[in-house]
Amino acid sequence: MRVVVTGGAGFLGSHLSETLLARGAEVVALDNFCTGSVDNVAALMSTGRFTLVDCDVSQGISVDGPVDAVLHFASPASPVDYLRMPIETLQVGSLGTQHALELALEKGARFVLASTSEVYGDPQVHPQPETYWGHVNPVGPRGVYDEAKRYGEALTLAYRQTHGVNTGIIRIFNTFGPRMRPNDGRAIPNFIRQALAGEAVTVAGDGRQTRSICFVDDLVAGILQMAQIDHPGPINLGNPHEISMLDLARWIVDLTESSSPVVHIERPVDDPSVRRPDTTLAQEVLGWAPQVGIEDALRATIDWFREHADSEPLSPEA
Ligand code: NAD
Ligand code: UDP
Repeated sequence: MRVVVTGGAGFLGSHLSETLLARGAEVVALDNFCTGSVDNVAALMSTGRFTLVDCDVSQGISVDGPVDAVLHFASPASPVDYLRMPIETLQVGSLGTQHALELALEKGARFVLASTSEVYGDPQVHPQPETYWGHVNPVGPRGVYDEAKRYGEALTLAYRQTHGVNTGIIRIFNTFGPRMRPNDGRAIPNFIRQALAGEAVTVAGDGRQTRSICFVDDLVAGILQMAQIDHPGPINLGNPHEISMLDLARWIVDLTESSSPVVHIERPVDDPSVRRPDTTLAQEVLGWAPQVGIEDALRATIDWFREHADSEPLSPEA
């Protein structure tokens, strides 16, 4: 098995690459390092089956030799990142997706698109099944990410129907774990970094908005199931464990044994109020359900942040 992972030096891409290598595959990771880091994959180099290519997939993709699967994960994913790079985010979701699809077409490879629960926007159906069309503001600040992913889904289906590419779409719900950048701006890395530093933990608005949070190891298992079959999706992948941001902040303060106060900051525009995957299809088609309890997953992530507190690269704007 030879697999191309776009965004392979990012949070999810590096975990995917690691698991693929552990299963005996060869991995070619393409990344422009706009939010990823060589540090995420440095340990994979010694396998001799991992190649890291500095490449902006929005500009074009060229890979020599056979490819069995293309896993398209390149894209800023944190709201802080995609608001900093709105045009690049639209480009990687459109041009980058097309280049990745062309690669899959050329090589006769399975293609998996990392789509997102954000295609549901601020959902008016709860929990969200794949049949729900979503509630997205195309001209709101989050539109650059949500619409790029929605376009990417449409393009992926068009390549399946027009060119017969073996495509699959997964809609990933909030996932966390080791190797998230402590300052990437997402709730869990923010809360853990702040709690460990004894700083105020910043909850947006009253904190009653919810997310459903999944540990990265569970997610990777689901993605690799999807890579091995020929189902088109879309299939939701996420842990239905739904929690309010205020409860999550308090939980992380407890788990870190921190004395940090919880403070309230302004809620971002168009911030979704609720989010929870209906995972019936994932169970039926992939035989997949999350296995790792959220408390264990939070503890593992906190431990990793503790160990890497001083060595993590800062984001460009920090
Ligand atoms: P991340 O920011 O850690 O990783 C993204 C990677 O893509 C980085 O290494 C970045 O440098 C790379 N990248 C971005 N633009 C690129 C380009 N033009 N060319 C080459 N490389 C590029 O984010 P993540 O959390 O690992 O997310 C990975 C993918 O999964 C994204 O497509 C994201 O939309 C999707 N996703 C993630 C989550 C989540 O909870 N983590 C949820 C839904 C969807
Ligand atoms: N959030 C928060 N404090 C932070 C960062 C985020 O309360 O320091 C909130 C954010 O407003 C949202 C939720 O946490 O309601 C999840 O945000 P995140 O950026 O992790 O993911 P997304 O909004 O993409 O689901």
